[in-house]
This record gives sequence, C-alpha cells and structure tokens, in this order.
Amino acid sequence: MATETETRFIKTLAHIACGLREKIQVKENDNYPRSLILRQGINMFAFLMVSKSGFSDDELKMKLNLLNETDFILNYLQYPIANWFSEWDGKSIQEIFNNPLYKMNALVEVDDKAKTFVLTEDCQDFLSGIEQDLLAIDEHIVYDKLKNLSQNDYVTMRKFLIENPLLSNEMRQDLLLKYDNDSIIAEIIDSAYEIIPSEVFLCPKCGWTASQIGEEMSCSQRSCKDIKYNKNSQRKKIDSKFTHRLRLGVMRYICNPGKLELEIAKICKAKDLEVFLWPEKDKYDIKIHFKDHTWGIDAKVYSNAYVLANAIRNDIDFQKANIDKGFYVIPDELAKWDYLKICNKALEGKDFTCVTLKGLKRLINKEIKDERD
Ligand SMILES: [Zn+2]
Repeated sequence: MATETETRFIKTLAHIACGLREKIQVKENDNYPRSLILRQGINMFAFLMVSKSGFSDDELKMKLNLLNETDFILNYLQYPIANWFSEWDGKSIQEIFNNPLYKMNALVEVDDKAKTFVLTEDCQDFLSGIEQDLLAIDEHIVYDKLKNLSQNDYVTMRKFLIENPLLSNEMRQDLLLKYDNDSIIAEIIDSAYEIIPSEVFLCPKCGWTASQIGEEMSCSQRSCKDIKYNKNSQRKKIDSKFTHRLRLGVMRYICNPGKLELEIAKICKAKDLEVFLWPEKDKYDIKIHFKDHTWGIDAKVYSNAYVLANAIRNDIDFQKANIDKGFYVIPDELAKWDYLKICNKALEGKDFTCVTLKGLKRLINKEIKDERD
C-alpha cells in the first residue's frame, strides 16, 4: 500500500497531468486558458515542498514565488520528475524516491519559439493509467459505449477501430448500413473519430496522421519519430477520400495495442489454439484455451517501463480474471535495458509475467509440446 506521502505525490502528478491535458484541449488561437486542476496540482506540489523539502524559510519563499503556471512549466514540467526534487532533503522523501513514477520523464515538451507545449508520451501513458480519471477522455468514452454492445458486436467494432485509423464517408455509411443505422454504433463512430486537421500527412508507420512541430515529427507514438520525415519527398499525402481520423487517445490506447492483440490472436490460431478476443468485454485482451487450462493475455505498448510498472501494479481487473496464468505482452522492440525486469518486479508474488511477443511465442510452443509429450 502506498504511504501518505506517496499518495500525495501520485495525486499531485495526476492533477498536474490532467490539468495540462485540459489546457491543451481548450487552447484557442495559441492562448492557453488557466486550468483549475493544474492550479490544484501546483498547490499540492507546494504543500509537499513546504512539508518535505527541508528548505530554509528564505529558500522556501523564493521557490514558492516561482510556482505560477508559466514558471512551473518552464522550471519543472519540461524536466524529468526526479529533477523536481533534486535539491530536497532525500531522507524525508524516501517514499517518493521508491515510487515508480519518480523515474518518469518530463510531462511536456516546450517549443520556446512558438511558445507552445505538447504532452509527452510518458504523460499520456500516465493519464491513461490513472484509475480514478479526473476528466473523461477519448478512449474511456469509447470503451463505455462499446460496453453497451453484445460480445460479438463489441469484437467487430473494436476490430474496426484497430484496422481503420482513417475513415471515409463511404466506410462510415457502409458500417451503419450493416448495423441498420443503430444509434449506439453511430455514437461510437462519432466519439472515436474526429475531422482530419489541415496540413497533416500520412504516417507510414502507424497509418494515422503525422504533423511537423519545428524539426520534430508528431504522431501517435514515439517510435514513429524514428522515421526521418525531413525531406518533403518522403511525405505521403492522405487520400482525399478520408475525412476523419481516430482521436489521439483512441489511436494510442485502442488502435496501437490492438495491432499487437490481433497479431497474438493470429499466432495462436496458426497453432490451432482456441482464442477469444476481449473476453468479458475487455477485462483483458485475449483468452487462450489449451487442453486443460487457460491463459490470459494483455497487450501493452507503453514506451516507458516505469509507467507500465505503475499501471500493472494497480491492474485489478485482469489479475482477478478467471485464468490459470496471465501475461502482459509488449512489442519486441520495446524490450531494451531493464524493461522486463522493471515490470516483473511490480508483479512479484503473482501468477503474472511480463514478456515480449517473441517470448510469448516461445512459451506457447513449449506449452503445446509439453501437452503432446
Ligand atoms: Zn505514426
């Protein structure tokens, strides 16, 4: 269980991250309106500082003066979390050091010239993992609506979202026709997709839209940035028939992991195993039936191991599911450094393991072989 200081730390981060998202969502003509939630987060941080930093009265006065929104973004939010506490008395914030979120990267990337900022991938992953979500966000709205469908329609609609990051009017009409113009289906489409903004091009990696911010590429995943987009010749135009794209939250948390989910299902089917996608409407992603036991799989595509470790530590739904063994599966290319070690530490003492896709394939092959022998 988290201690009181640790809980304060997590809540502070949650308010700050939600406040930042709110600022970006209501941004108008390059003006960021103040966010009450961000203000609350900054006040919580100030409270932590007063009670735990060990600063002298003069130091405190000076530092607290710099806790307005703008200075806070420039002096804290664009740096890794650990930097925020670098001058604090280490002994009194031991619990904060030990929390996985302490290792999280900066929450925003600031473009000094344009005076704008964007949420980092760590910040978005953290927001998606917050259980008691402070604001309704894209993917949760879509999930809530999907849950109104029958299991069969749920699977069909979720597959549709995964396979179609971009949408044309014709595709929308065809889908609605298939469902007799069902109002829930229409609501799901409308909450999952938004109009494609101008001046974006096609991301060759994830099939969503990419835009350029300064020299950098901005897309739905950090791994898309590895592709060099600088030369105009490499930019792909979006086919004009597409009018809508998935909203960012849906792209990141339904479509991107969805590709991995469908891949895992394909691998199992090729081995003649019985598989169910999103059993019990998404307590987890895939159920695999072996002869006399079952496995559960949850696919995760978080780029930061510490953020994933925090999310799976609190992942009660999946860990309560009726299965014999459970696996969190990550794409092979994410398993750098100590990624698996960090996540498996958060799973100590449970029948759950974090593995790569390759690792899962090996385990499935071994299980099939053991059953035969
Ligand atoms: Zn992309």
